[in-house]
Amino acid sequence: MPRIPDPELQRLKDEISVQRLIEASGVELKKLGKDIAGKCPFHADDTASLVITPAKNLWHCFGCQIGGGVVDWVMKLRGVSFRHAVELLKDETALTSLAAGGSHPIKQSTVRSLPAPVSLDSDDRALLLQVVGYYQQSLKDSPEALAYLQKRGLVHPELLDTFKLGYANRTLGLRLPHKNRVEGAQMRSRLERLGVYRESGHEHFNGSLVVPVLDEHGQVKELYGRKISNKHKDDAPLHMYLRKNPTRAEACSMWPLWRPAKKSSFVKRSLMRSPSGVRASAM
Ligand SMILES: [Zn+2]
Repeated sequence: MPRIPDPELQRLKDEISVQRLIEASGVELKKLGKDIAGKCPFHADDTASLVITPAKNLWHCFGCQIGGGVVDWVMKLRGVSFRHAVELLKDETALTSLAAGGSHPIKQSTVRSLPAPVSLDSDDRALLLQVVGYYQQSLKDSPEALAYLQKRGLVHPELLDTFKLGYANRTLGLRLPHKNRVEGAQMRSRLERLGVYRESGHEHFNGSLVVPVLDEHGQVKELYGRKISNKHKDDAPLHMYLRKNPTRAEACSMWPLWRPAKKSSFVKRSLMRSPSGVRASAM
């Protein structure tokens, strides 16, 4: 799983006030010397054991003996993973809903708080385009993927939008309804049928730059993925395509052209055309 770059994490820790976040969760706070204290929502607390140190942007509960920064607060309050908490903090809509969520902690959240980028009502073509759109936004928000493009000399300002380049950073699943819910299970099974998800439930292109192959109508005929890091398991391919699935018929005609070539050069496989017919010759 691609790790969250340190500068991105640091930015969240610097920009989001733990005091405001905790207040917004419904905890009443009072001044306590240089610190601020309130009743901890994670245990029956009569004595205001929750102490916030604004100078360090940290919190600590002397009852539960737990604490940390903004990410730890969201993990504990919402019962979500580290990665999920970071995504919630990065997303303004989700941040608002965190604030509106009250201080009642959720042990293990089964309700996703991030808006889903794909819709069950969409047909397969629209669904693939939604995935492409989500990956495209993820790329723009991912310094590590942008750094990869830069390293490859792919720096033209119109490149990302012209070729709808994207980045799969394993966050799509965090935005789908949970898999134990009907919509969540249906969505995953559709994404699996389209080749975006694996049977294991993982995102197929995880950690990859994703390049859509579009037809003349702008429909997605194939997705090509290239891992942005060479540090992965030996048996994991560097290059990949949508997972072949016997029940997915529409893109079959493309497969002979786009068969995965394990070690072939990144440059050679760049004869994919943009909607405007321009070649990505630098790829
Ligand atoms: Zn506590």
